[in-house]
Formats: sequence, structure tokens, C-alpha cells
Amino acid sequence: MSDQNSSRRDFMKTSAAAAAAASAQTTSAAQAPAGVEADSIRAAEWPASRPLNRKVLWNELSRSEFPPLLENDPVVILPIGSLEQHGPHCPVDMDISIPYHIAVATAEDIDDFPVVVGPPVWTGFTHYNMGGYGTITVRLETFIDVVSDVCRSIKANGFDRIILMNGHGGNVAPVTAIANKLAHENIITLSFPYWSLVQQEMRDWSTADMRGPGHAGEWETAFQMYLRPHLVLMDRREAGKARWPFSPAVRGYAHVPERRRESANGSMGDPFAATPEKGERIFKLAVERLTAMVREFHATPVLEYEEFGSDAKVLPTLF
Ligand SMILES: [Zn+2]
Repeated sequence: MSDQNSSRRDFMKTSAAAAAAASAQTTSAAQAPAGVEADSIRAAEWPASRPLNRKVLWNELSRSEFPPLLENDPVVILPIGSLEQHGPHCPVDMDISIPYHIAVATAEDIDDFPVVVGPPVWTGFTHYNMGGYGTITVRLETFIDVVSDVCRSIKANGFDRIILMNGHGGNVAPVTAIANKLAHENIITLSFPYWSLVQQEMRDWSTADMRGPGHAGEWETAFQMYLRPHLVLMDRREAGKARWPFSPAVRGYAHVPERRRESANGSMGDPFAATPEKGERIFKLAVERLTAMVREFHATPVLEYEEFGSDAKVLPTLF
């Protein structure tokens, strides 16, 4: 703890010195985010707030608090989710709340360089959940546009390291496609669904849902019982089974697009196997793994798109 405090103090000292030096001279155009006049940028003190005396939420920062962050190879974690029915007992914001909480806990754990939690993207691609009350979906094209434009804006503000952490199954393929598309625009991201951080442990520690996070089943309900227990309607818990139209063999090698939620009550899995202790254990492991990923991203030089093996300098803007 004292080590953490002292490294944090050192960092603040460095940051304050850099801020003073920067404010003594006009910030160069090269340091200014696209579309922002260099003259308008004034370096400021490292932001002050709770609980580690600094802010971690993009939404809480003021204009003057961004420039010092950019001097220390910051990492932005963008939580992406969905609003959709989650069985009779779970809140509809499950898929954004889990990656959001993992992101915030990770950002608060790291105090020797800036980690910012981007504005949570709650809109998801989830037409197949529209049969249950509470679901709000956007079209695939809209989802791609929103996430892509948020990433472009983050990059335009000067942040080169963006992590896309998704919490909704229907977003997995679109987010991967978005990441591949953005790379072509020189926006390099790391993207994954949060459960891939703890996939093996979800299997090993499960007593009911062996295949992964499910939907309002063992693991998702456990996360909520740990993070926001007041939102789980314990007396309305219902287990649910997916009604897959093909055999496990076919599903083993073919992607089968989901039709209108293939579970009678909207649950997939067994919420009765969930406990707050399970939720805490898997949550803390996810935070630990994400923290290691963020540290590696921070320490890795950002290479431009065209720095990867090609003789021909084909501009990504050509198509
Ligand atoms: Zn979910």
C-alpha cells in the first residue's frame, strides 16, 4: 500500500512538473487533438477526486483535465453492452453493468499511469431479445456506426490505446469486425467479451452452467448478487434452457444465428447456483487479468498501421 502511495506521489510530481513546463510554452500543434486549437490547450494538474484522489471516468473529466493524461501513455477502456431482458429476476442493464464495473475497478487499481473508463455504450445489437419487456435494440449498422464513431472521437482526442470490453453475446462478432475495420484507420484496439478473461474459471468453478456466462443464469446472476444485490429479484429467479434447433455436433462447427430468444422465460442457465461469493471471486479475477492487459498495453509502443510489413504505402483512406 505504501509502495503504491509513493509511486503515485512520484507520478503526480512528474505530472505536475510536465504540466508546469507545458503551460510555460504554447502547446505545439502536434500535441493537440484533431479539431482542437493548440492555443486553447492548457495543461492542468492531475485531476483530483475519489477514491485514489483522481478521476477515472471520461464523463467526469473537464476539458482542462485531458492534456496531462495524454503525456503518460494513457489507456482508455470502453465498456460496451446492451439493454435487454434478462429473465424474470435480473435488471435489463446486465450486459453493460458487468463490463462497466470491471473497467472502473481496474482503472481505480492502477495509479501509476492514467486509465480512463470511456462513456459506456449501452446500445447493443439484440433484436432477438425484443420478445421480452425492457429490451432496446439498435440495428447492426447503427451499432457499428456508434461504436466506431466513439472510438474515432477518443482517438481524435489524442488517446492511442483503446480497449473495447463487451458484455453482450450479440455484439461479439460486430465488435471484432469494428476493431478490424478501425485498424485500417490507424485506430488500434484490443477487443474481447469480458468473459473471455475468465472463461476457464467459469467452467472450473461452475456448479451448473458449464459453458460460460449464460443469460441470467449462474454467472451473470452471481455478478449482480455481488455488485448490485438490491437489483436481483430473488423470489422471481427462474432457470431456463435454450431450445437450439440443431444438434450439438452441427453447432460445434457452424454458427447458428439466434432467432427470437430461444428460451421460454428469457433465462439461459441456473440462477439458483449463483452466490455473491462466486460473483466476487470471478469479478476480482477478471479485474486482475484486465489490469495486467492494461499494463502491457500501456508499456507497448503504438505502431502505426503502415508500420506493419508492407512496401506499398497504400493510404487507408483510399477505401
Ligand atoms: Zn447478458
